[in-house]
Formats: sequence, structure tokens, C-alpha cells
Amino acid sequence: MSLAQEALDNAGALDGYRAACAGSPMNAAARADHIYAPSFLDMPTLKKLYKCMFEVPLVGTMNVVVVNSSADNGYPHTRPHSVICMPKSTILSMPSEELKDTLCHEAIHIHQRRNPELWRSVCIKDGWTPIGTSKIPFEFLMRCRLNPDTFIPQRFWAWEKYNVPLPLFTREDQPTLGAVQIKWLDMRNLTLYTDPPPSFVKRYGNPSQPEHPFELLAVELASKKLYSEEALTANLKTF
Ligand SMILES: [Zn+2]
Repeated sequence: MSLAQEALDNAGALDGYRAACAGSPMNAAARADHIYAPSFLDMPTLKKLYKCMFEVPLVGTMNVVVVNSSADNGYPHTRPHSVICMPKSTILSMPSEELKDTLCHEAIHIHQRRNPELWRSVCIKDGWTPIGTSKIPFEFLMRCRLNPDTFIPQRFWAWEKYNVPLPLFTREDQPTLGAVQIKWLDMRNLTLYTDPPPSFVKRYGNPSQPEHPFELLAVELASKKLYSEEALTANLKTF
């Protein structure tokens, strides 16, 4: 077995992510034609990846696994403890600057995995409240897209105590990972709203991934090009 496959197998034993996808009818259907397995790069593309990794020292203590272009719809993501999964298509198509920012974003997710208490405290200081999965009505829970970067240790968070963003599949009959809309669940009346709370917009603007504070903060901090552990931890102290 390849080292890459071993890393994915170990990750599966630790997070149960793929098993959770298989056990959720909509998440399973959304991934039905994906190949979740290691892939390989030609030498020039491998050199491009290595150069970008070298320029983002935060990645230095992590494992980068190249996966099939269709794995999780070609979305870069992470697995425990320290595996960054980069779809082959992403590495091939992204300009190096964008690839470095993406590696930084993913490395921040690994930093979140390694420092759960620190990040929990950062999220709380930024205005979020953890919400137990059992508090989300099942009819909404079954429609939520699973994200390996956010479903452990704390899958749901409320903005300002009661507004929980949910990444819901747009079509229940034909779910795809690319067709998801964020709806806001008001925990006071368990009703879904489309518009984000005004205070959320004031804090984050209209971000690309408003589904979870780990995503919001990874996007924000990667855009600041915090490529080293020192730069990242110094920034986190400002929260
Ligand atoms: Zn992310």
C-alpha cells in the first residue's frame, strides 16, 4: 500500500468522515461518482507544488497528499492529524500565488485540528457560540453538506448566540457538493432565514464560505498571507 493511501486510511480511522458521508443518504449521493484515492503528478507539476509548499513554511510539518481530481468535488481539504488533501486538478490549474494561499488556508485547518482549545476560544471571542448537533432539527441536519474541515470537534456554531449557518444541499433529489446554499437557522424558533444577520455582514462582509467560523477565519487569515506559524499565532493573539 502506498504511503498516501495509508495516510488516508489512518485519517478515516481517526475522523470517520468518509463513513459519515456513506451513512448520510444525501452526502453519499453527492459523492457517488467521486474517486477518493491518491493520485500522481508529473515532474514539472510536482516541482510547482514543492516550490509553493517551500514558500509556505506553515505546511512544513504537515503531509500533503495528492488525490484524484474528483475527490470531494475537487475541493482541497484536510484530514487528521496533519493531512492536506490536494486534488490533482487544483494543483494543475491554479497559478502558484493562488496555490500558496490555498495551501495556507488548508494549513490553517490543520492548525485548528492541532489546537482545538485555542481555536474554540478564538471563535467565542469573535462572537460565536457552540451549538450541539442534537439541537439541529433532523430535517435540516440530513440536508447539511458534510465538510471534513469543520465537522469535528465542533460542527455547529451560532453567530450571536442563536443564528446558526447551515450549508444545505439546494436539491434534495439530486444533491451535489457544488450546489449548496447557506441558510440561517434561528435557534429561538427553529426557522430558516436566507439573509445573514446584519452584524455578521458588518464583521465578515459577504464571504465565500460563511458556513462555519473555521472556514471564515481560514479564508480571512490566508488572505493576510500568514504563511508561518509565528505570523499565524501572533495574529490569533489579537482576537
Ligand atoms: Zn477550508
